[in-house]
Amino acid sequence: MLKIENLHAEIGGTKILKGLTLEVAAGEVAAIMGPNGAGKSTLAYVLGGRPGYEVTAGSVTFKGQDLLDLEPHERAALGMFLGFQYPVEIPGVSNVQFLREALNSQRRARGEEPLSGGEFLKLAREKAALLKLDMDMMKRQVNVGFSGGEKKRAEMVQMGILDPAFAVLDETDSGLDIDALRTVGDGINAIMRAPDKGVLLITHYQRLLDYVKPDKVHVLAAGRIVKTGGPELALQLESEGYEAVTA
Ligand code: ADP
Ligand code: MG
Ligand code: MG
Repeated sequence: MLKIENLHAEIGGTKILKGLTLEVAAGEVAAIMGPNGAGKSTLAYVLGGRPGYEVTAGSVTFKGQDLLDLEPHERAALGMFLGFQYPVEIPGVSNVQFLREALNSQRRARGEEPLSGGEFLKLAREKAALLKLDMDMMKRQVNVGFSGGEKKRAEMVQMGILDPAFAVLDETDSGLDIDALRTVGDGINAIMRAPDKGVLLITHYQRLLDYVKPDKVHVLAAGRIVKTGGPELALQLESEGYEAVTA
């Protein structure tokens, strides 16, 4: 479903990704773990098409298309979703307005009918309930004054509404308490665990993987995948540390 080959990318002339190769099959949840500064967030941004991240070599194929050739909104319409470590605030725009516009612009890009206000609200209520986020939160300005946990749950509601084919989730577990972690983990499973979907779950810690069981665990260090294993690799990393495991 997602095939990354020999990817090299730099920011402002600094090489960050240095020959990263990785495949995620349909139906698979792949975890990416790695030390601080390894290039995990850079990989997420490159997949999303963030300006300033320059790909100097390699390729990314998503659902058979050259992902790197597409604009960010085209990638989203094709079903690529990015969840961020630090979700942005959008003052003056409510979650409901923002998400309805985001969903309908993707639907239009795919040649589908936009949802009416009523249809959209029904969908939003269903997904907010799944993530245990009060509908009052959905009517508030995007992320303004939200706690860390509320931002992450709101982001998972967004993912539920957009119903992407593939999700890249960058440290979605950071700043979550135990209950929120379970809710977010359950949400990821409910929304993304399907034979025709895929997930790249970027995390520092093993704990989210207790809730979202990865099929594969990849270790990203110094801009490349240096080790791949099953869920047991995450446990080994947690107990022994990155250096010992990748040495
Ligand atoms: P991770 O998410 O694995 O902690 P990042 O992808 O955020 O790592 O960062 C990888 C490396 O790129 C780090 O050394 C970081 O300092 C560097 N980096 C990140 N953003 C920039 C930037 N805007 N300009 C220069 N270097 C950057
Ligand atoms: Mg980091
Ligand atoms: Mg990061």
